[in-house]
Amino acid sequence: MKLTQKLKESKKTLFSIEILPPLKGKSIQSIYDSIDPLMEFKPAFVDVTYHREEYIYKKRDGGYLEKVSIRKRPGTVGICAAIMNKYDVEAVPHIICGGFTKEETENALIDLQFLGVDNVLALRGDSIKTEPAFVPEPGGHPYALDLVKQISAMNKGFYLDDEMKDAAPTNFCMGIAGYPEKHFEAPNLTSDLNYLKAKVDAGAEYIVTQMFFDNKKYFDFVDLCRKNGINVPIIPGLKILSSKKQIIALPKIFHIDIPQPFYESLEKCKDDKQILEAGIKWCIQQSKELVKANVPCLHFYTMGASEATKQVAKEVF
Ligand code: FAD
Repeated sequence: MKLTQKLKESKKTLFSIEILPPLKGKSIQSIYDSIDPLMEFKPAFVDVTYHREEYIYKKRDGGYLEKVSIRKRPGTVGICAAIMNKYDVEAVPHIICGGFTKEETENALIDLQFLGVDNVLALRGDSIKTEPAFVPEPGGHPYALDLVKQISAMNKGFYLDDEMKDAAPTNFCMGIAGYPEKHFEAPNLTSDLNYLKAKVDAGAEYIVTQMFFDNKKYFDFVDLCRKNGINVPIIPGLKILSSKKQIIALPKIFHIDIPQPFYESLEKCKDDKQILEAGIKWCIQQSKELVKANVPCLHFYTMGASEATKQVAKEVF
């Protein structure tokens, strides 16, 4: 079922989660273990992230270094199929531009369509660690907008081979990413919003936001989107801050602020256990305010913290 349909039919704020594929070599049981505690809250959908290859240097005999490409977290498509089958829940694979040619993207989308996946989140992806900026794959897409256009074309039955006749249209409901605190590469929020609108105009049907800890940033972002003619559902993304390390890591990695009152409460914590408690408390407060504002869905970046997410969900749903 299309997510937009689910959102439209629901009279109350829905609950959803994002999970990461396990590290290569780990079993899918770790995914089930992270989903099981949250199933009682009936997630409207489960997003599964996509992780592209990284390059590492391996020391070989003779002391020389060999550059090796590895994908640490493969399995996005397999996990989607497995959890749809096991839990009867909508699984949403993240599709990224990075590392894919258009042809590979087309083939991946055909696989997803055959598996019965109705929803995808279309993203550009970040640069790989060894590159200072995002470099598209030769024959691939430089921006999420181009990926959105490709998926939209397939939804109308237009594949890459323009000689293909009577091709079966796909039927994907497409989500995209939005950044209440601006995407870090965008020169300003207006330009970022213009590109966000271009993705919606090209066929994206809903937006999932980057995590934020200050609800005002989300409310202001939604207002700005509406003023700029972006009228699709905007699903807030939430993360429970759970360790001292994350106080520095989250702003650095995700280009987001930790509001001062929250930071002050974290500063008082003696250890990670207390930080987690403060993180849960803050997230409950955020969630309750968002539900009161009638947001379509609360989307939790679980990042392995299922028990903490459960504690928040128990208080809110
Ligand atoms: P885009 O929409 O392409 O935007 C990237 C930048 O380019 C922005 O600054 C934008 O303003 C600018 N821009 C956009 N279009 C144009 C244009 N036509 N011309 C010039 N400038 C343009 N990453 C992963 O690798 N895997 C994941 O699973 C994943 N999941 C995510 C889920 C969510 C909800 C979010 C918010 C992010 C996720 N990311 C993931 C991270 C995401 O890939 C990065 O933030 C990436 O840097 C940008 O992706 P995007 O789709 O927003 O890119």
